[in-house]
Amino acid sequence: MPNELDKIMNDEDGIQAALEEAIERANAMVVEAEIANVELTQIINSSIDGLLVIYRNFTVKRINQAMLNFLELTQKEAVGKKCSELMLCSWCNTPECPLTKILRGKSSIEVDIERSRRNGEMVPFMFSATPLRGIEGSVIGMVAHFKDITERKYAENTLKEANERLERLSTSDGLTGVANRRCFDQTLQKEWTRLQRTKEHLSLIMCDVDFFKLYNDAYGHQGGDDCLKSVAQALQENARRGGDCVARYGGEEFAVIMPATEEKNAVYVADKIRQAVEQKDIAHIKSSVAPRVTLSLGVATIVPDDLETPESLIKRADEALYRAKSSGRNRVVLWEPVPEISPKD
Ligand code: GH3
Ligand code: MG
Ligand code: MG
Repeated sequence: MPNELDKIMNDEDGIQAALEEAIERANAMVVEAEIANVELTQIINSSIDGLLVIYRNFTVKRINQAMLNFLELTQKEAVGKKCSELMLCSWCNTPECPLTKILRGKSSIEVDIERSRRNGEMVPFMFSATPLRGIEGSVIGMVAHFKDITERKYAENTLKEANERLERLSTSDGLTGVANRRCFDQTLQKEWTRLQRTKEHLSLIMCDVDFFKLYNDAYGHQGGDDCLKSVAQALQENARRGGDCVARYGGEEFAVIMPATEEKNAVYVADKIRQAVEQKDIAHIKSSVAPRVTLSLGVATIVPDDLETPESLIKRADEALYRAKSSGRNRVVLWEPVPEISPKD
């Protein structure tokens, strides 16, 4: 039978061994954790996108090299800081903050943003964020991902510009740069519908260069083209209110659509255009109205309704233009209904 002293000695050996084993295991775990940490750091640093781990108290837990390069900071300067100190965003301290949203249960966020470098250069990013969960599964922060989308944005902008150019080409007149006939038709229809709803006036000016055939005869087709460019410029300089649309209606005829404009104002603008062309003093030796290029203009105004159509407005402005021509040219005529002749007269 072992005596008491031997038993205590044996137990103590056992405790000692167990203690050493536990310390060994703890050390191994620390080393494993350290290896995992070193590996994780390498993994997040291998990403060319910016990565940030932010804890629920808004402090930065991890930040990768790409993000540090962008912010021009060192690990020491960044880790432990409030995220708003690193990069103040418009959403900081608002319910739009991605971390706030994630803490409230959102499972992912993806949004295009722009951030400026230290030198002020703006860089577009696709920002995405997902929840960071602790060992027991609850959300303890977020992982934020900043993907530089400069190239994508550049391609998008190039495409947008190309589309806008195409749009301009398909809606503008090649010679004068004002709206083309297709654009005129669309704009008139659009304004007709809109003003029918708001019950406002829609005015239309139709202009025609006087004796333009003779101008071409005297100065050649190229001279005629240059003259049309100058006339278009005079029109554009004098019909400048938002919504006004100057268009080449065809040949040497131009039109101005003037939404929400009463007839007296349309006549005023028409005469300003007439004067502007006159003041350009473009020599026209073959004109029998003046020794320079002149315009005849017809004006019509209507409050669009169901009974009329945009075509009836064009017809009226055309009639007024015809009267301007037949009554001597280089003038503005406002359309008025021809008085009906009653049987008594
Ligand atoms: P009116 O005073 O009655 O308007 O006489 P007009 O000579 O201006 O009218 P007409 O309709 O007889 O002639 C219009 C001329 O406009 C004929 C055409 O050759 C010319 N024209 C139409 N489009 C262009 C163009 O793009 N460039 C040039 N240079 N001439 C054009
Ligand atoms: Mg004509
Ligand atoms: Mg003419």
